[in-house]
Amino acid sequence: MLELRPCCEHCGKDLPPHSTDAMICSYECTYCKNCAEEIFEDICPSCGGNFVPRPIRPKEELAKDPASTQRKHIPKDLSQPSKYSLKYKGIPPEKR
Ligand SMILES: [Zn+2]
Ligand SMILES: [Zn+2]
Repeated sequence: MLELRPCCEHCGKDLPPHSTDAMICSYECTYCKNCAEEIFEDICPSCGGNFVPRPIRPKEELAKDPASTQRKHIPKDLSQPSKYSLKYKGIPPEKR
């Protein structure tokens, strides 16, 4: 089951369970759309995978399966590109 993490790992923006602005990689690294697309250019800085929109969880389901409340906010060092960015820049997800 998806954790539905409460914020963008890089900028800390709130991403509640109904947000359509949340993007995740296959490990559930969670970012807002702006960070995922504009800053990291669809390359997850922690694993090199791509991002897809996180699905919402309906309110009724949240009552029994609540979203995570553990904020994981670890801003990435943007002074140099991540090793994955160097490796995968320009390479489509299915070829990584
Ligand atoms: Zn963000
Ligand atoms: Zn990742």
